[in-house]
Amino acid sequence: MSIAQLARAEVRALATYAPDMAECAIDVSDNTNLWGAAPAALRALADVPPATVARYPALYAGALGPAILRYLGLEGATDVRVVTGCGSDDVLDSAMRAFGPVGSRLAFSAPTFTMIPAFARLNGLEPVAIPLTGRLDVDAERLVACDAEITYLCTPNNPTATPLSRAAVEYVAENARGVVIIDQAYAEFAPEVFDALVARHERLLVTRTFSKAFGLAGLRVGYGVAQPELAGYLERARGPYKVNALAERAVLASLEESPDALGWVRAHATLAIGMRERLATGLRALGLAPLPSAGNFVFVPTARARHIASRLRDRGILVRVFSGMPREVAPLAAEDGLALRIGVGPATTMDALLQALTEVVR
Ligand SMILES: *Cc1c(COP(=O)(O)O)cnc(C)c1O
Repeated sequence: MSIAQLARAEVRALATYAPDMAECAIDVSDNTNLWGAAPAALRALADVPPATVARYPALYAGALGPAILRYLGLEGATDVRVVTGCGSDDVLDSAMRAFGPVGSRLAFSAPTFTMIPAFARLNGLEPVAIPLTGRLDVDAERLVACDAEITYLCTPNNPTATPLSRAAVEYVAENARGVVIIDQAYAEFAPEVFDALVARHERLLVTRTFSKAFGLAGLRVGYGVAQPELAGYLERARGPYKVNALAERAVLASLEESPDALGWVRAHATLAIGMRERLATGLRALGLAPLPSAGNFVFVPTARARHIASRLRDRGILVRVFSGMPREVAPLAAEDGLALRIGVGPATTMDALLQALTEVVR
């Protein structure tokens, strides 16, 4: 038997994740925190006791559990638990292993986070894409009608940056038959969040990450909150020791109530929100039409996406191109299904980007 025959069919069918990673002086392609990370996190990493690396980290959430609940304002809730992971990717992947029998279905609103259909296939699940409505909201009734074992929503949604309506999210949480996941990777930039819903729904998992607002993408830490029974099965599927000791240390430091820690995170989320509005205004002045954003990035449907991205690349600026947007979603399909996703960062970065765009777009 060849190695290809020995590989599982799901693995053979999957391409290695390979977004455009060209070395560019300005990289606004991945929605990470372009201001960096909280000083308290960096100090914690610079000053590591040897035993921290010589011994294993916490088996499961460990000290991060109560610190995260406090951050979410859920410290008093006895019916809510935290499950951490090597990035929230790990939490999402583990949820599919825990609650998606091979051959069952995972329904999601499309377009969304590209890892979702990939994780689904790898876990032997059939991904079922239900297009967003023309107003870029979840088609809640159609999604529920899928009767899937797992239903995934993302708000604010990646890549569109648009938030889903509370009514649609609550309808899905209330009515979907199986486990419902609400991915809030960009919660810190959004006008509303859904963490508190887990107290009402025993089948709900809400995920978040330290990769975006906290600026710790390189350390790979994410988490989910859920009621204890769901959290318990999720942890079994995840396995022990997934968050490394340095990451745990930096995250704990970031979650302190001080100007160098959570104060820094909040101040920079506010800055990012201001910058995204400034970027959107600049883009509109160039005749582009960014969608309303609730994240730290903007999404710009444009048939010229490939041309613009390649000219920007020549100028040392990396943005992400999206193609094949669902034809059913009019605002996304209008521009041949093509779009640019651009991350928000410090004023100097945004000025350089807008200057380059001025030369490229005209
Ligand atoms: C960035 C992102 C994540 C986070 O991934 P990590 O594994 O935590 O770095 C999860 N979901 C969405 C929608 C994202 O954009």
